[in-house]
Amino acid sequence: MAEHKHVRVAVIGSGFGGLGAAVRLRREGITDFVVLERADSVGGTWRDNDYPGCACDVPSHLYSFSFAPNPEWPRAFSGQGHIRAYLEHVTDTFRLRPHLRLDSEVKRMTWDAQRLRWQIETSSGPLSADVVVSATGPLSDPRIPEIPGLDSFPGRVFHSARWDHGYDLRGRRVAVVGTGASAIQIVPSVQPLVSRLTLFQRTPAWVMPRADRAISGAERRLHRRFPFTVQARRGLLWSIRELQVQAFTRHPGELGPVEWLARRNIARAVKDPVLRAKLTPDYRIGCKRILLSSSYYPALARPNVDVVASGLSEVRGSTVVAADGSEAEVDAIVFGTGFHVTDMPIAERVVGAAGQTLAESWKDGMQALRGASVPGFPNWMTIIGPNTGLGNSSMVLIIESQLNYLADFLRQLDVLGGRAALDARPGAVRGWNERVQERLKRTVWNTGGCTSWYLDASGRNTTVWPGTTTEFRRATRRVDLAEYQVLRVPARVNAPAEVAA
Ligand SMILES: Cc1cc2nc3c(=O)[nH]c(=O)nc-3n(C[C@H](O)[C@H](O)[C@H](O)COP(=O)(O)OP(=O)(O)OC[C@H]3O[C@@H](n4cnc5c(N)ncnc54)[C@H](O)[C@@H]3O)c2cc1C
Repeated sequence: MAEHKHVRVAVIGSGFGGLGAAVRLRREGITDFVVLERADSVGGTWRDNDYPGCACDVPSHLYSFSFAPNPEWPRAFSGQGHIRAYLEHVTDTFRLRPHLRLDSEVKRMTWDAQRLRWQIETSSGPLSADVVVSATGPLSDPRIPEIPGLDSFPGRVFHSARWDHGYDLRGRRVAVVGTGASAIQIVPSVQPLVSRLTLFQRTPAWVMPRADRAISGAERRLHRRFPFTVQARRGLLWSIRELQVQAFTRHPGELGPVEWLARRNIARAVKDPVLRAKLTPDYRIGCKRILLSSSYYPALARPNVDVVASGLSEVRGSTVVAADGSEAEVDAIVFGTGFHVTDMPIAERVVGAAGQTLAESWKDGMQALRGASVPGFPNWMTIIGPNTGLGNSSMVLIIESQLNYLADFLRQLDVLGGRAALDARPGAVRGWNERVQERLKRTVWNTGGCTSWYLDASGRNTTVWPGTTTEFRRATRRVDLAEYQVLRVPARVNAPAEVAA
């Protein structure tokens, strides 16, 4: 590909969000765009998380693009390798490769108010763009807590999203820190290999059995032959989750029977009453993401596993020390401690019209109009922005809704003609956010009695969408120009000559 000096649209990231945006741009007839990706291949989440046992926890037929149905999913909940291969396949099928600029980390984006464009510095050189679509992912920058003494630990240390495949865990003493979605997949996968596994659990998770199974050859043949059966399957999976939303958002008390089932799930696998008590959460189910695994509790009940019901607080040589004072000697520490979610690193790198970074603009909490636009950051749109996360369904549904919004945003710019930009009005963002926060007040995420990564440092929920995916789709179908200020290039400024692809 010839190097662009200027493009109409720069997409950052090549996970479901960035690739979905690229497909949508092509479908809208826009070919003057690049996808900037810091890694050397596409896939985002599904490239980086290749720890043992990594799989989706929303069924594959729903956790995939509606415009790229896959009759070949091998399991109800397919593994990382298959999801990554699917995203590579999407890249080829929709001819996205010429648009990819890999090994290109975006270091800084600055709004040029004179020319109404973004100046972008990347590790592979500068470029400019009329519109930026930031799809850098809500769970893409690993978070390792600051633990005194960790730097001088003599063994191996790694995060679940940066698995050290050069290190053989067989026969080792391993500490796993964290009990979130990744840790509960790692623990049963490595427990049979290691000599001793010490799990540091600050807060137990509610874990329900995962109804995983292989999708038979006959089913796959049916899906291949009659594509509508893939759509029907997807529709059913979607409807079930859509019907569950009310319990999370309006009537958390209705989750009681689910909690009862989850307690039975613990009791069935864990006979030791002390361990059972440690593993039973004291908050309402659903407050933190409900995790799915049929092998987690049985693994914890094995004799080579210790569950420390306390966070890791210190490392002394090769001894890991919990906040409750308990100690263990280990050879390796695996952090399943999540990601920078409410403090996304990309926000430090975006400089808006007033010379402020997005991080400064969000210092009192992230907010964005319809999860996408931020005042003072014209023609900049984020995919999976503030309050777009789901507690129980596929994020791909949200991404596709945001792509509708993006497509209309670009159409509106076309209609405005000439060089124009759209900047969200502060009042519109405030109004949107007040409505979202009002609805969140009743939800299980805010009232369930837990702290979770859904809440920011001040306890405000800046991550979850408090409604159904249908409501989100409706809210993002069109851009309402009344919610934006139209900016125009001052007459005397000439745009520099552009170099086409
Ligand atoms: C282990 C795991 C399992 C999950 N399972 C599910 C599931 O079952 N169902 C579900 O709905 N969701 C799940 N999620 C959430 C998942 O993150 C989203 O579903 C989705 O994959 C996000 O896609 P994305 O494109 O927004 O971000 P990502 O997939 O994270 O992609 C972001 C991309 O941006 C790139 N990037 C970041 N910063 C820069 C920069 N400065 N310059 C250039 N490139 C940059 C990254 O390298 C990455 O490739 C899971 C997440 C994890 C971590």
